[in-house]
Amino acid sequence: MNATRGGVLRVALDRPLRAAYDYLAPPGRDVASIPPGVRIRVPVGRARAVGVVVGRASASELPAARLRAAEAVLDEAPLFDAASLALLEWTAGYYHHPLGEVIAAALPKALRGGAPLEARTECLHATAEGVAAQAAGEPRRAAQQRALLERLASATGGLDAAALAAAQPNWRGAARALVARGWARLDTRVAPPTATPAPAALGAGPPDGSGAWAPETIPALTPEQSAAVTAITGAAGYAACVLQGATGSGKTEVYLRAVAHALASGRGALVLVPEIGLTPQLLARFRARFAQPIAVLHSGLTDTERLAAWRDAHAGRAAIVIGTRSAVFAPVRNLGLIVVDEEHDASYKQQEGGCRYSARDLAVLRARHADVPVVLGSATPCFETLHNVDGGRYRRLLLPRRADQAAAPQLALIDLRAHPPRDGLAAPVLRAIERHLATGGQALVYINRRGYAPTLLCTACGWIAPCQACDARLTVHQGAGRLRCHYCGAEEPLPARCPRCGYTVKPVGQGTERIEQALAELFPGERLVRLDRDTARRPGDIEQVMRAVLSGEARILVGTQMVTKGHHFPGVTLVAVLNADQGLFSTDFRAAERLAQTIVQVAGRAGRDARAGEVLIQTEYPEHPLLASLLREGYEGFAAAGLAERAAAHWPPFGRLAVLRASATASGAVFDFLQAARRAAGASEGVRLLGPVAAALARRAGRHHAQLLVESHERAPLQRFLKGWVAALDALPAARRVRWALDVDPLETQ
Ligand code: ADP
Ligand code: ZN
Ligand code: ZN
Repeated sequence: MNATRGGVLRVALDRPLRAAYDYLAPPGRDVASIPPGVRIRVPVGRARAVGVVVGRASASELPAARLRAAEAVLDEAPLFDAASLALLEWTAGYYHHPLGEVIAAALPKALRGGAPLEARTECLHATAEGVAAQAAGEPRRAAQQRALLERLASATGGLDAAALAAAQPNWRGAARALVARGWARLDTRVAPPTATPAPAALGAGPPDGSGAWAPETIPALTPEQSAAVTAITGAAGYAACVLQGATGSGKTEVYLRAVAHALASGRGALVLVPEIGLTPQLLARFRARFAQPIAVLHSGLTDTERLAAWRDAHAGRAAIVIGTRSAVFAPVRNLGLIVVDEEHDASYKQQEGGCRYSARDLAVLRARHADVPVVLGSATPCFETLHNVDGGRYRRLLLPRRADQAAAPQLALIDLRAHPPRDGLAAPVLRAIERHLATGGQALVYINRRGYAPTLLCTACGWIAPCQACDARLTVHQGAGRLRCHYCGAEEPLPARCPRCGYTVKPVGQGTERIEQALAELFPGERLVRLDRDTARRPGDIEQVMRAVLSGEARILVGTQMVTKGHHFPGVTLVAVLNADQGLFSTDFRAAERLAQTIVQVAGRAGRDARAGEVLIQTEYPEHPLLASLLREGYEGFAAAGLAERAAAHWPPFGRLAVLRASATASGAVFDFLQAARRAAGASEGVRLLGPVAAALARRAGRHHAQLLVESHERAPLQRFLKGWVAALDALPAARRVRWALDVDPLETQ
């Protein structure tokens, strides 16, 4: 350590380096005057970079001669307060990702580049000389200048660009002349607030299309809702509450009341949702309930919109912040509450690129640091969450079905062996659709596969259309006349004949497009809509489909996973799940949990009105124990059995996992790296390494993927091991020939 007079600043830069960089204070400043959380411009090699000060130290590991001075401090006030910095540092440490990259990902692009924390606008003032000149009737000849100086002389505090442009559109020329004569001065000041306006788009009103949620529709709480609100708002400091209730049981109403309580005590609230596009109703209800501006943060925003929302949140103009995964790092003034809606949703876990964090887990951590309550809402809490309830770490708040709500939907299995399906649909399902339509109901048909058919087959020679870049088959998209790879996006025209033998080819299996077509032929008079990534490409597409269903105009809705989220379809009385079997035999330890969540979630879309819903699940394995326990005991019983299985196998949450994933264009390089990584692990206490093995889909977009699994019975030994290991991995020569990433608490192990 080399003590440095005045000390050094520890700066996190957006670079894949794990250590912070040390710098001397910029000329004319001392280290003590620069608080952590501000941005700073520093030299890096021959370039410059913007970093964030994360700490100060009296000494550096660098020799004094190599320490360089920072160039400029960019902020007067920190971008991140101490609690937010602590959260970011914890994230970097726990997920073993460079802090600078974690911080960069938490910031809007413009701020990463050094843009001012607050939007600034130009402001023109009259100088004392200018005021005197104006009083003396100057300037006599230039009419534009005279008009402008007159305005300025009577405007104490000056006029900003917007005001000037409104009063005198070509003010800039006159301003230049006045400045040159010493009669005016141009500077900048903080721009007026940009409170995020409610979009005029669909989704801003209630689903009935009536335009606005009238304030008088605020319902009186049920006793269970009241108890839940009291438990949340009455918590003295940190409390983790699991708000568990079926779709429609009133969870959102509880969030609204808890947020209102936080606002009333002068505090802010952070609400996390899985995907904004899939939860327009939640956003609309928050907008209708609160007059305050709401900052909305999600991946669909432009850079400018994201910057404006972030600034509103940071400045405290927006006391409510609603956003997707990365909003867990959003600034919230005087944070008083965190809500995680649909906490079981997989999109809370970053699974590709960057730091692979779980926003749900970080939300709980953030709440603990901030000493405020956190609400985890779901009809199907994930097993980890239920385990925390069992262990007394989280408090469960149950919402039963409301009295004015229909009874729980009835689940039944349709044995595909007894009722061979035609075009993917078994006869009992078709009869049920007919029956529900005849009595004024709507039907929701769920199949977790988009496109027309997952396979194109030549019945003469057995050729199957393959993706050239992946170990995968191409999916038939009939309407578009294309074959598409759902893994790498490759596409080609749909061939009419087999490229190998010239015989005719045939699509095999079903996707949403084929099911839609089959149903259209079977129910010619009825309007159908389809909801999947192909029909919902643009923002607004989802709402359009929703409107068609909610208005009752569309009678049958066919969709993928997208229909299991967010939307409430009160008129839907029948739900058919076409391909449940995929989830039954997966080798992934979480597959069963996922399947149960999907079935319960999709079932929850039915029968919100007075009528009870009916849910039919097509399967070739009606005796399968997983399906049996779900039907017999519901999600609760199913989860209890699932947790017991996990305990026996030491799977999470009873054990801890991390996966080291690697990919390269040459499969040899991937395995070389993983073997070297395994050797680098040495005799590691308390952890077990498994692999390397090829990924379930080994070749994707021309790259070979493989992985090494790290297991431990407990968190601490795993974390200790990973810390040393990751540093060793950085130094491996084989690491330079692959892309690798560590995934702590992975959602998948395949
Ligand atoms: P969830 O978030 O669990 O799906 P919501 O809070 O959205 O449930 O409630 C579903 C519907 O029931 C909404 O239209 C809501 O306004 C209404 N609702 C919620 N709580 C009550 C209540 N206590 N009394 C009457 N209606 C309610
Ligand atoms: Zn052929
Ligand atoms: Zn592909």
